[in-house]
Amino acid sequence: MTDIAALKQELVTANRILAKENVLDSFGHITVRHPDKPNHFFMSRARAPEVLVESDILEMTLEGVVVGPEPSPGKPYSERFIHGAIFEARPDVMSVVHNHSPSVIPFSVTGRKMKPIMHMCAPIGNDIPTWDIRTKFGDTNLLVTNMDMARDLAKMLGPRTVSLMRGHGSVVAGRSIRDVVFTSIYMEKNADMLIKSLTIGDEVMYLSDGEVAANAGARAGFTLERGWENWCNKVSRPYIALEWDMGPGFSKTDK
Ligand code: MN
Repeated sequence: MTDIAALKQELVTANRILAKENVLDSFGHITVRHPDKPNHFFMSRARAPEVLVESDILEMTLEGVVVGPEPSPGKPYSERFIHGAIFEARPDVMSVVHNHSPSVIPFSVTGRKMKPIMHMCAPIGNDIPTWDIRTKFGDTNLLVTNMDMARDLAKMLGPRTVSLMRGHGSVVAGRSIRDVVFTSIYMEKNADMLIKSLTIGDEVMYLSDGEVAANAGARAGFTLERGWENWCNKVSRPYIALEWDMGPGFSKTDK
């Protein structure tokens, strides 16, 4: 039986970290799939990530219907459908971030592709699409407010880790809360470093497909743990160490 209280605590910690690390501001959200009910997920009521607490966390169906009483005060996030549609399309995904990560947005509105330039940023992958809500839904306020829109976005994401959203932000999918937090933070850093690189050099040397693949394989649990422990400390939240599979050639004391 999973410790749901601990999972909610982890989700709150993730919200604080993403706000601190410039991925979320007053807007954007992170969710986690219910470990025992794969057709449900957990998400805060609509509240800024930096101030929400455990009691704000709601359980909802993949269609975005709140399980139990509606939050009072408050309401669910209007863009909760993004998460449900990605969980629906991707059984491998356990956690999703939707953000308006500020350095990433320029790559959603220009022809310039975002690709990793630094090894820690490899998890974003070399093939990052941009979903444009206008292609299928015409002129909107750009918010993803129903399952139709969200499923279209999930289709663009496909099997990837990241899809940008034109003039809006991005989605990040991963195997755990710690995984999507890591990827989201390093995507923001990559975008910032790439913009700087483009201003000082004629040509930018990106990671090769082989380097991206090699780094993805090397990002074992201890890499996530080192980042997570540090980020927890920065937001004064408890760090709970996880058991992880180090892979061949490592011991648990290698950090
Ligand atoms: Mn949004």
